[in-house]
Amino acid sequence: MEYKKNDLVTVAIGDIGSSGEGIGKVDGFTFFVKDAVIGDVVEAKVMKAKKTYAYARLTRIIAPSPQRTQPACGVHMQCGGCQIQALAYPSQLAFKYHKVRNNLLRIGGFSEALLDAVLEPVVGMEAPYHYRNKAQFPFGRNRDGETVTGFYAGRTHVIVPNTDCKIGVAENREILERILEYMKESGAAPYCEEDGTGLVRHVLIRKGFSSGELMVCLVINGDRLPGEDRLVKTLCAVKGMTSISVNVNVERTNVIMGTRCRTLWGADAITDTIHMRAMEEIDAGGDALSRKDAEGITFSISPLSFYQVNPVQTEKLYSLALAYAGLTGEETVWDLYCGIGTISLFMAKRAKQVYGVEVVEQAIRDAQANAERNGIANAAFYVGRAEEVLPRLYETEQICADVICVDPPRKGCDEECLATMVKMAPQRIVYVSCDSATLARDLKYLCAHGYALKHARPVDMFPQTVSVETVCLLEKFND
Ligand code: SAH
Repeated sequence: MEYKKNDLVTVAIGDIGSSGEGIGKVDGFTFFVKDAVIGDVVEAKVMKAKKTYAYARLTRIIAPSPQRTQPACGVHMQCGGCQIQALAYPSQLAFKYHKVRNNLLRIGGFSEALLDAVLEPVVGMEAPYHYRNKAQFPFGRNRDGETVTGFYAGRTHVIVPNTDCKIGVAENREILERILEYMKESGAAPYCEEDGTGLVRHVLIRKGFSSGELMVCLVINGDRLPGEDRLVKTLCAVKGMTSISVNVNVERTNVIMGTRCRTLWGADAITDTIHMRAMEEIDAGGDALSRKDAEGITFSISPLSFYQVNPVQTEKLYSLALAYAGLTGEETVWDLYCGIGTISLFMAKRAKQVYGVEVVEQAIRDAQANAERNGIANAAFYVGRAEEVLPRLYETEQICADVICVDPPRKGCDEECLATMVKMAPQRIVYVSCDSATLARDLKYLCAHGYALKHARPVDMFPQTVSVETVCLLEKFND
């Protein structure tokens, strides 16, 4: 059977692709249907047809899947932020579990039997909405020339107007409405990407979940905003407002933030605390901290700092990493790809000495300041690429480690880095990963060089989207 653009087809969706799309077959021909849910029977319109497969758009749900749920957001299909809101949360978790499992099987070469023993269910959220502590909303104009804000549609820079994102904090809406009102009154125009005119590009909003502090930073194509005092006045009225600033970005680029910030009102940064949670607490599945006196580390977060965006799940993820590290207070720990030292400082509370390595210099300055702020004296940091810093220190200073923790970006660890880790021969390696394909590749290397995979536990840091983090424990065999 051949298909062409605009053909209408009826497809039973039997699978879900890695981007969250529904996959169904008709007489051996495969259809990829965005927004269709596994178990649905849908009518779809062919958008692009190849010899054996086609991409199609959902036009009608003929028989809804039992795994379908009512999405919280009215623009979930247009907006590029979430991919799987229509999939019931337990099915989202099952999808993520199988994604990690398949990669460990196919790329990692681990056996079904081993995975049955070491791979645990995904740590999900009790309430999988309103979890993000950070949002960056672009400003632009709609067809009628009115200023709008929202999120970009998938793979485009077309703004889908929305001030009420369901994965963000409730305060976003009030803040965005006040900014839109201010822009109207002051004549501050939204930035236009096509010709580089206009002033207001994006707004960054952040909330410290444990402190309740709010930060607003307007990214502008210039040095000043008209009527800055009016903006300050309206934003100050929002409960929890702590820091109002502008960030200057006059470059014609897709990079959201420029390098320079100027505080208009309040503090330059907000604070937030990440608490240690007990394993039983994580297993119990709740989101709220059960112990109000839980030990924590307090971070200062400026508009340009990197900080994990789901603080509830971050506490669970880091607490798992800490439990896997099995620290007694005697260990030397290396934390590679340490960012602002979040995991390093967690580990430092339970170890003899921690060393962090990170390529971004400002992040290392933040890490040092955070160590000081928390009175942690047994953490030291190196700036540079892990695959360069580690081999160099190993050659010159014969560094060693009892535990190495890594939390690399999507591309995973460089082989040079893995090779040096193996030479350092730590008893345990804790691998935190945001991409299970590169995780599987790196685990294969480590398991071919004297380590065994003992635990793997995915954590749902980004409900409603297709991303999944995983934390793993490897132990050295002692033969
Ligand atoms: N563990 C931190 C940060 C994880 S994100 C946290 O949880 O907050 C990954 C970090 O790796 C980023 O901060 C990035 O700047 C850093 N990075 C990327 N490539 C690197 C490399 N080759 N060597 C060291 N750090 C790197």
